[in-house]
Amino acid sequence: MRMKSIFIILIIFFSNLFAQNHQLPKLAYSFNALEPYIDEATMKIHYEKHHQGYINNLNKALQNHENANLSLEEILKNVSKYSEAVRNNGGGHFNHTLFWEILTPNGSKPTNYFKSAIEKQFGSLDSLKVLMTQKGLSQFGSGWVWLIVNAEKKLEVTSTPNQDNPLMDVVKEKGIPILGIDVWEHAYYLKYQNKRNDYLANIWNVIHWEAVSQKYEKIVPKSIFDDWTAIKDFHKVMSSTFHPAEEGNLEPIKTRSQELLDKAKLLKTSNIPNELKPKVNMETIDKLIKDCDKVHKLVKSKSKDSEIMKALNTAHDTFHEIIGQCKH
Ligand code: MN
Repeated sequence: MRMKSIFIILIIFFSNLFAQNHQLPKLAYSFNALEPYIDEATMKIHYEKHHQGYINNLNKALQNHENANLSLEEILKNVSKYSEAVRNNGGGHFNHTLFWEILTPNGSKPTNYFKSAIEKQFGSLDSLKVLMTQKGLSQFGSGWVWLIVNAEKKLEVTSTPNQDNPLMDVVKEKGIPILGIDVWEHAYYLKYQNKRNDYLANIWNVIHWEAVSQKYEKIVPKSIFDDWTAIKDFHKVMSSTFHPAEEGNLEPIKTRSQELLDKAKLLKTSNIPNELKPKVNMETIDKLIKDCDKVHKLVKSKSKDSEIMKALNTAHDTFHEIIGQCKH
């Protein structure tokens, strides 16, 4: 056999052998960057010893396990089918990876979209902090406090013992964690000793709210209606006139055709969000105004229902053309 093919076979052999090996993620900041809220020594031991320890033990526990190839998330979702060691160390690896990502030395604020979701659920960002702090304090022994997005896509605060997390099938309150706070003593003991409340009061100074916002927006994507009030308003009138008309009830469009036209005209002078400006074609908005004007004229002249319906269909198609432009 030629040297080259032996070499290729060796590469394939070794890459298979190590393919599923979980590895320590890189930190986006230095060990002392979160001072004075989280001290350098704690960070170094937490990352290099504790997190690395979970990873080493996870890799060991997954050896010869039949479903070891799956992603960590997939493993955790069915963790009841794995050993206790996979549960503890797989959880440990996932939880700490998330923890490093949601910390930052740079000061950070939630996006408006995420902030309004917080306000809707908890009243304010401060009430969320209070709630998470209380949960963290009442978690007996080691564990984590979480902000999750649950199955109903709602934000929820939960806690779990040990290295469990809300992805796991063994956990009662399930969801996708977007913010996790480590309340194991190893996370704070060197600096705060037994005073978990001081640690929890200080950690808010280094939470990476932008990163948490991004995680939230991945799970609950922003709709184009969230930032563009005028299209939201137009959509309301369009859907409450078009859908009854489709069912044969033209009364709503007959009473609201003027309003539909006005809302269409407002689109043109409205504040189109910056990220949509390059996408939306103003000619399509002009066409929508024309379409709605035609509907209104037909209504005023008491034209046949079939003609009104045809014109309304056209306006509805044009509206969806605008929505399509926003999405691409
Ligand atoms: Mn920890």
